[in-house]
Amino acid sequence: MTDGPLPVYRIATIPGDGVGPDVVGAARRVLEGAATAFGFGFDWFEITAGGIGIDTYGVAIRAEDVAAAGTADAILLGAVGGPRWDDPNAAVRPEQALFALRGGLELFANLRPVTVHPALVPSSPLRPELLDGVDLLIVRELTSGLYFGRPSEERRTADGRVAVDTLWYTEAEIRRVVRLAFELARGRRGKLTSVDKANVLATSRLWRKVVEEERPAFPEVEVGHQLVDSCAMLLVRQPAAFDVLVTENLFGDILSDEASVLAGSLGMLPSASLGERRTAHGRFGLYEPIHGSAPDIAGRDLANPLATILSAAMLLRWSLGQEPAARAIEGAVGATLDDGYRTRDLVPAATDAGGLRVVGTAGMTDAVIERLGRGSAGQRPSDRDAGSSSSSADDEAIATIVVADTLLGLP
Ligand code: NAD
Repeated sequence: MTDGPLPVYRIATIPGDGVGPDVVGAARRVLEGAATAFGFGFDWFEITAGGIGIDTYGVAIRAEDVAAAGTADAILLGAVGGPRWDDPNAAVRPEQALFALRGGLELFANLRPVTVHPALVPSSPLRPELLDGVDLLIVRELTSGLYFGRPSEERRTADGRVAVDTLWYTEAEIRRVVRLAFELARGRRGKLTSVDKANVLATSRLWRKVVEEERPAFPEVEVGHQLVDSCAMLLVRQPAAFDVLVTENLFGDILSDEASVLAGSLGMLPSASLGERRTAHGRFGLYEPIHGSAPDIAGRDLANPLATILSAAMLLRWSLGQEPAARAIEGAVGATLDDGYRTRDLVPAATDAGGLRVVGTAGMTDAVIERLGRGSAGQRPSDRDAGSSSSSADDEAIATIVVADTLLGLP
């Protein structure tokens, strides 16, 4: 430990709606635990956004709050939305907060690591043998494509109503996310699958060309192109065959939800949205669980906090450069699962919960914090070197521990 003042990081939290406050509160407690253990501190500030933003300010997020979030070292977000604001025709909708943050802060790449903790294999609908060795990372383009293209509207014509959406990509938008995916693949198992629909879409053909143009700069990465329809099939038939997948916004949205099923519960999967901007400590980013606001269980101590806790570990790694603390959290989560702790969503309906310790949000968070404080926790995580191929049984177990996002190649 150095003699100077402890580093203090400014973190914006956006709890949002439904279980958002439950899981962000849990992750914040774990981050405070890690800060104490590893000798740094946090300066938190909270932003009101989502459905609660609409109720409070009349908009999902205020422009000044997007700007304020951009001054933080990183953002930790829960989820937005709920039945009260679900009218898709409403002029103001909770998800506009997400679009404003992603677009306004140029967070163009969404990273979703998917691994399956061995203890959770029974929670997955797939046969256990298909899950062996699953360790993939989906890199989704986040700020262009169909979700941002204009025009996007319904029109009345003499022939009745028509609707139009615009699928638009510039070369630069494709290149920056493809490059990031190459870099990530280089730091992992060196395999990149680019997913498109090049047999039909012009944007996909440009996408493929840009991937090919980038390929020579990454000779150590093996590149394959896959049509999105066959990729969707292979993701459930042979998920362990994938390493890094890179794809455009809409395809990435669908494929990453499909891949999330592998892990057994939406409540397990973290994500990071990164741009190119750097802070004094790392890459600026927004971290959130992939699940939604789960209004059916909100505020009832039922939400699984692990996806958000694992998102917090990603935040430590990429935005704050606190790799040992990130690993300690991932290790503590793995140890907690090994010790039999489960939230309800992790206990399949047909399974006898005997031998498992079924806990709520608070109980799961306490168990993780307790293991974070144990010396052994820091030795548990996925600590494969970037690009190394682990072979021992121990390494195999480590490789499948939650979020084996060995993205150490990240520049
Ligand atoms: P959801 O992810 O909220 O819930 C789907 C199912 O998974 C529900 O049964 C829920 O109880 C369960 N679940 C989700 N997270 C869980 C957790 N942490 N622990 C235990 N169980 C969990 O998806 P939905 O029901 O389709 O959407 C609900 C609301 O969330 C909608 O308003 C939707 O628009 C919004 N949503 C927001 C985001 C986001 O903020 N990024 C993402 C998806 C959906």
